[in-house]
This record gives sequence, C-alpha cells and structure tokens, in this order.
Amino acid sequence: MLQDLELTLKHIYEARQLISPHIRKTPLLEMPELSALAEAPVLAKAENLQITGSFKIRGAANKLLHLTPQQKAKGVLTCSSGNHGRALSLMAQKLGVHAVVCITEAVPPNKRQAILDLGGELIVGGKTADDALIFADQLEVERGLTMTHSFDDPNAITGQGTIGLEIMEDAPQVDTFVVPLSGGSLLSGIALAVKSANPKARVIGVSMQRAPVMIESLKAGHVVEIPEEPTLADGLAGGIGLNNTWTFRYVQRLADETITVSEEEIASAMFHALHHHHLVLEGAGAVGLAALLAGKVKSSGQGIAVVLSGGNVNLPVLIKIASQKLAV
Ligand SMILES: *Cc1c(COP(=O)(O)O)cnc(C)c1O
Repeated sequence: MLQDLELTLKHIYEARQLISPHIRKTPLLEMPELSALAEAPVLAKAENLQITGSFKIRGAANKLLHLTPQQKAKGVLTCSSGNHGRALSLMAQKLGVHAVVCITEAVPPNKRQAILDLGGELIVGGKTADDALIFADQLEVERGLTMTHSFDDPNAITGQGTIGLEIMEDAPQVDTFVVPLSGGSLLSGIALAVKSANPKARVIGVSMQRAPVMIESLKAGHVVEIPEEPTLADGLAGGIGLNNTWTFRYVQRLADETITVSEEEIASAMFHALHHHHLVLEGAGAVGLAALLAGKVKSSGQGIAVVLSGGNVNLPVLIKIASQKLAV
C-alpha cells in the first residue's frame, strides 16, 4: 500500500535529524474522561504546546533547512491561515531569511501580530485562500521569492510526520490516530510514519462541517472548490489548491476514515480542554477532541492518539466560549 508513494519512513527520520534542534518534543497526555467515553485509552499529542503554538514549525523548519544559499538570499513566501506564516517567520528570522506572508482577511488579529512580531512581512492578499494564492503567485515571480507551501510540499509532509515518530516512541500500542485535516500534510505525514511501522494502524481525519474542502474533494474523487465559511476552526479554512500535487493523493491513499464536527462540538472541545486539562486550544486544534467527545470515533481496544494541533486562539473567542459554557 505504501510502496508506490514517493515519500518513505526514511525521509521522516531525515527530517527529524534536521529539525530536532528547532522543535520541542511535545508531551503525550493521558485523557481519563475521554478514555472512559471512548472505551479505549486516549492520549493527546499536545502540539498546542509546540514552539509558535502549532505543529507547523516542523514542516516550516524542514523546508527552510533544505533551501539553497541562493534561495535563502532572495527570501521566501507563503500563503497562510496564520500558523504556517508564524512558524515560517520564526525559522526565517533564525536563519536570516526574509519571509513574506500572504494572508486572507479571515486571519484573526492574534495570528497577524505574531507574524509581525517575528519580522515577517505581512500582506493581505484577498478575501479567500484562493485569492491570496493568486496574489502570492504574482509576488513569487516579481520578487524571485521561493514559495513555501504550508501543506502541499514533501518537506512539509515529512516534517509533520515526525509527530508520528514521537507518538510511536511514547506509546507503541496506539493503533488509532485522530488527526485534524485541512490541506492534509499533517495527516499524510503521520499516516506515512505510523503505517510504515504498523500496517493495521487506522488514521482518521477530522474537519469542521463548514466547508471541509479536503473531505468534499475525497468524495468527488478530485479537488473541488467550495466557498469558505466563517468557523471557529479558522486554521482549517481554505482550499487545497486546484493544482494540488502531493497531499490530495496522499490523503486519498492514507486516510481510513473522515469525520466532520459542528461549531458547537468544536466549542465544547475547546472548553473541555481548558476546564479538564488546563490546555488552551484553537478551534482547528480541537476538532479531533471534538470528534471523540461527540462519540464519533469508533473505539479501538489498543489505544487512540488524538493530535491537539494548535493553541493560537484569539483570546476573546476562548473567553466568550468559556463564559457561555460556565453559565449553562
Ligand atoms: C495547518 C493546521 C492544521 C491542518 O493541517 P494540514 O496539514 O493543512 O491538514 C490543523 N490544525 C492547525 C492548528 C493548523 O495550523
């Protein structure tokens, strides 16, 4: 099943070697309430505690460390819903590379400020991810920048795959992996790692009900475009690129199942993480937890790992959710 894919476990180990000085090995936390509910031990991979507040630093570091001196001298460019732009800005700053981050109007203020604080050049490239991408393509040509895609890039996939290695080392018994899904580098990388080691491992992708582009594309059998909708999971919003070359194929091959969650389920998961685990999650980081809390993941005797992919929530949003839930 994995044989005809270009990327292998070896590439993920190489990525780990390269990026380990720049990332944090995040904890794998026990989740007692969820384990009772899922009738299997549930462990949470706390990438919300990762440097820059999301797993994106893994792929961004791997990408930047692969650039040639010429590419570094000219600078890098990305289109981002915020977290990749932030991770890229940090790594670029460390390596003395200029980073241009093209965002959409939907990116919340906390994510914009973080990019600016790290010296990234921030440009609002349009209303939707597709508009921003067209704008970025022009900039790439005009300024000779190197495009560093947040998901559709082999270095992004193998960088995110290092999460799979860490989970397997800490909990080799886990055989079900619940992973937030948007462009699909996170799912592709983790699935490639864990399925290489255990062909019986199941990988489940979770998106929000509001415009889950990857899931609709899987159903259609080709990449589709659907209008973006406002969602708590802003980190998952946006298209997967009509010229998608890597992740659509990989997710098609590697995802065993997909699940969608409602805004209410995402809010409940964010509150659950805060209240029971003192963990701050952004909506995108909470969708896997939301699927488990809603009883949407079929239990597995051996163990479930859920990836808490990010914690960069705009604080007023979290405060509003917490006060609403506490008032009930
Ligand atoms: C980017 C991101 C995702 C989705 O990752 P993909 O590789 O695009 O599927 C999930 N959660 C958070 C917090 C993210 O920043």
